[in-house]
Amino acid sequence: MNQVADCLFCRIASGQIPAEIVAEGDEWLAFHDVSPQAPVHVLIIPRSHVESVAALDGDSVVLAGRLLTAAADVARALGVSDDGYRLVTNRGARAGQSVFHLHVHLLAGRDMAWPPG
Ligand code: AMP
Repeated sequence: MNQVADCLFCRIASGQIPAEIVAEGDEWLAFHDVSPQAPVHVLIIPRSHVESVAALDGDSVVLAGRLLTAAADVARALGVSDDGYRLVTNRGARAGQSVFHLHVHLLAGRDMAWPPG
């Protein structure tokens, strides 16, 4: 597993930093965001370090699919799938990325504005 010592989400994935885990698989982990922006705000991350969606390539197709299906499974498990939810991944500082380890935000439980800010 490719992990980076000073990466916050690598440290959560390896258990060095605690998180409120919702679900996990061999290649991914889902946990509650520490600063929720909606009644449901979960982050889905790969266990291996990937800087952002921009670092995905042809070898990452299965991993990318697992992250999306994990997000859909977590939404179902939390009972928000029928009501509706939003998946977001920020790439780069201008888009608001603050943790440079790929993560998908699962946001639900309130109306979502469009376009996003
Ligand atoms: P982004 O700004 O898209 O990179 O998202 C990073 C997210 O990580 C933010 O929503 C933060 O609130 C969240 N976050 C930062 N530190 C932690 C932590 N220790 N546990 C859970 N979520 C965190």
